[in-house]
Amino acid sequence: MGIGIGMMSSYPGAKEGAIERHEAAQQIFLPETPHAMPVAGLLRQLHVSATEGLSDDEVSARRKRFGANTVTARRPTRVASLLFHQFKSSVVYLLGFAAGLAFYFGELEEGSAIIAVLAINALIGFVTELKAARSIEALRALGARTARVRRESGVHVVTADELVPGDIVVLDAGDAVSADLRLIETSRLSADESALTGESVAVDKQTCPVSADTRLGDRASMAFKGTAITRGTGTGVVVATGLGTELGRVTRLVLEADPGSSPLERKLARLSAQLVFATVAVAAAIGATGLIGGEDPFVMVEAAIALAVAAIPEGLPIVATLALARGMWRMARQNALIEHLSAVETLGATTVILTDKTGTLTENRMTVRSLSTASGEITLETEARKDDERLQLSGDRPTAELLRIAVLCNDAHLEHPDESGNGDPMEIALLRAGLHAGLTRTALLDGHPIVRKHAFDPVTKMMATVHECGDRVLVAVKGAPEAVLAAATHATVEQGEIALDDDTRSEWLSRADQLGQHGLRVLACAMKMDTLADVAPYERLMLVGLIGLEDPARADVPQAIEDCRRAGIRVVMVTGDHVVTARSIGRAVGLGENIANVVEGKNIAQVIETGQHGLRDVGIFARVNPEEKLALVRAYQAAGEIVAMTGDGVNDAPALRQADIGVAMGLRGTDVAREAAAMILLDDAFPTIIGAIREGRIIFANIRRFVAYLLSCNLSEVMVVGLAVLSSLPLPLLPLQILYLNLVTDVFPAFALAFGEGEAGILRHPPRDPREPILGRRRWIVIILHGGALTAGAFGALATSSWLGLEARATVTVTFLTLAFAQLWHTFNMRDPQSPLIVNEITRNGWLWSALLLCVALLAVPPYVPPAALLLQLSPPTADMWSVVLLFSLAPMIVTQTISVVVRGSPRIAATTMRRHL
Ligand code: ADP
Ligand code: MG
Repeated sequence: MGIGIGMMSSYPGAKEGAIERHEAAQQIFLPETPHAMPVAGLLRQLHVSATEGLSDDEVSARRKRFGANTVTARRPTRVASLLFHQFKSSVVYLLGFAAGLAFYFGELEEGSAIIAVLAINALIGFVTELKAARSIEALRALGARTARVRRESGVHVVTADELVPGDIVVLDAGDAVSADLRLIETSRLSADESALTGESVAVDKQTCPVSADTRLGDRASMAFKGTAITRGTGTGVVVATGLGTELGRVTRLVLEADPGSSPLERKLARLSAQLVFATVAVAAAIGATGLIGGEDPFVMVEAAIALAVAAIPEGLPIVATLALARGMWRMARQNALIEHLSAVETLGATTVILTDKTGTLTENRMTVRSLSTASGEITLETEARKDDERLQLSGDRPTAELLRIAVLCNDAHLEHPDESGNGDPMEIALLRAGLHAGLTRTALLDGHPIVRKHAFDPVTKMMATVHECGDRVLVAVKGAPEAVLAAATHATVEQGEIALDDDTRSEWLSRADQLGQHGLRVLACAMKMDTLADVAPYERLMLVGLIGLEDPARADVPQAIEDCRRAGIRVVMVTGDHVVTARSIGRAVGLGENIANVVEGKNIAQVIETGQHGLRDVGIFARVNPEEKLALVRAYQAAGEIVAMTGDGVNDAPALRQADIGVAMGLRGTDVAREAAAMILLDDAFPTIIGAIREGRIIFANIRRFVAYLLSCNLSEVMVVGLAVLSSLPLPLLPLQILYLNLVTDVFPAFALAFGEGEAGILRHPPRDPREPILGRRRWIVIILHGGALTAGAFGALATSSWLGLEARATVTVTFLTLAFAQLWHTFNMRDPQSPLIVNEITRNGWLWSALLLCVALLAVPPYVPPAALLLQLSPPTADMWSVVLLFSLAPMIVTQTISVVVRGSPRIAATTMRRHL
């Protein structure tokens, strides 16, 4: 407080103070070697008090002077480069070449029309990509890093780029450091600086100055931007922000790395490239055959161009980008933030979810229910009995002592029992119980100032605080019962203490078990007195008692677990908590018969040894530490599973990275966990995972759907042109018409298919095999059959036209319109073969009906508008011609649907499903 009051007195009056502080911002010089400076001098130079932090006025003045704390000046997606990007594809080169050829042969109209269509395509692509990029940027902002700073005497959470030099930042295990800090307070603090120094071993931190010429990796008095706190707690003052930080110096060289494309995008790109290659080959072959056969070179070149245009699904990349971006948005709306695009694809293939318990399966709203000491057990039933409880406590020394330890050994803040508090829910619950008994943390700390803190360590499962207590120190410990009991040698009794023998130990353990059987999470509290502040905290402890906390199961979890089961996804609980507690929660959330099969962390290696069958039936892994989590993920993967795994702590990061889908918690997760994860649950809730899996399946199914749609349409065009050339017929479809089909009328239905809501039973079949390509052999066969049906329709129309004696232009018009409409009706073939004929995900898709309506207009109107008709070389159709078009465009769809109904439910489909279940 001393420094704070000093500062205050030098700035009398709020208004004046503000002016002076602005001046202070101008006078501040950032130190060159903060690591070598004593803390007090540095704070003076930075004009800040460690206890109060900066004032809001001062923050905004410094913000103006030093700028935002970012290393990448947030460049919005560069519009020009996005536009340029549209022209960087082999498809465009090929079409450009075709246009060049057209000009060369004097086909000016055709050449310019190709260019015009290319421009339209680029425009559609540009607009969609810009939209996608913008929405992804907006999503990124949702996941922005935050930091806890002390300002205006209180601790506030701000986004990391708002930090200014002089800010006092509070650090905790799991935080990513967001500016360069000179440490002013540390407790067992260590940091992973590998991002900066390449050194993979965590470095211990302290507050003493180090010599000015120390290398970066040894500056123990500093915490650097971009590194991660792996253990302990601390406070530091910001000495550099943004590009002034050590990280900033490094990144200036590399700047913004390429976000990289997802495997799905790469697969699609490869598909496109292959099609371009195949087209060039086929077009050249057909052209050469024609030329050798003595055909007119001009006709052959035109045919080659038509083929090239026909084969390439120009709309594919655009639709794919939009489908993925839209999927990310939809997931974000359901509280699942996708960090890597590839997660969208993998999600749908998930076969097992390893989920933690606290906060994911349970509500993480804890209440103390039981206080168990040498003098007996107090059960706290309802809030209404508060007053009685207070009475009981005042007369009971061990229970009062138990609560005192729980309140001292605590990181949370709670001033009043009715507030929601700040910090770990379990610790808040302890503080609340303390308040009910008249114990306030601040008051206790006044009498027993804290001198050391040993942060909770998930490996030892304990935490400790050391307090001044007269001329000695008091060590307060809380943690998992078996851990604390193992470290305890004595126990308090009503009068004094007794030594703990094995019998008493096992008696205490069975008491803990009983509490756990009621679904309570159990903590043991212990203490000791010593003379030295840096005494080893977990030795020769005196057990005080047990605390049972209730954390009710989330009401929406049983349904979500049932959904998983039906979707062929296994749910396995992996928790640090006790076996009995885990089993009781497992029962409450409906984990099913598997809860009988619980494996403890220390036995995991053994179960893994026995092979996949060992893992198969385990429903719960309890008392698991982070390393064992990693081993588990690996074991499941080795057994061929696609693993989604949740985690929140720093130590979970390796397992999260190893899992196919690492899922971090947005609310209680640490920055480090979030960085390692592929997906972040904004609400920490288990049902969100299955929601995201559902969305992932829908997206993948939609992508398959529109890829199959576009390819079968293009195939039909290739077959129409190819067959005509091979049988020396005049071209029934002209290059421009094909381009019009591909770039305009195919794109809208494909968009609509990409926007589909998915079939009703999407969560009722087992996950897809992740090795399965987008289009397997069976799908290729279907594409070829569909393409064949469309081609047959077009040739039927062609034959009928010549039978009707239509002249050349009218014949082309009929063939073009027939194929175009057949492609529109073809969208109805895209339903899932299992879904009903009439009411299915296609007919329920409102986008599709709008797209069809739009496309019908885009096809029916141009023949009657002279300039458009001229360009597309169409003549206004008569009623006869329309009848032919209608008949032959509907026929392919009716035939294929009939076949599909007959084939539906064939033994083969049943067989595949069966194989999966085995
Ligand atoms: P979960 O899987 O339920 O999240 P954790 O790994 O967080 O389990 O915790 C495991 C055990 O460690 C708990 O049952 C509890 O006994 C103990 N524990 C958890 N948090 C703390 C803490 N902040 N202080 C002391 N002990 C804790
Ligand atoms: Mg936990």
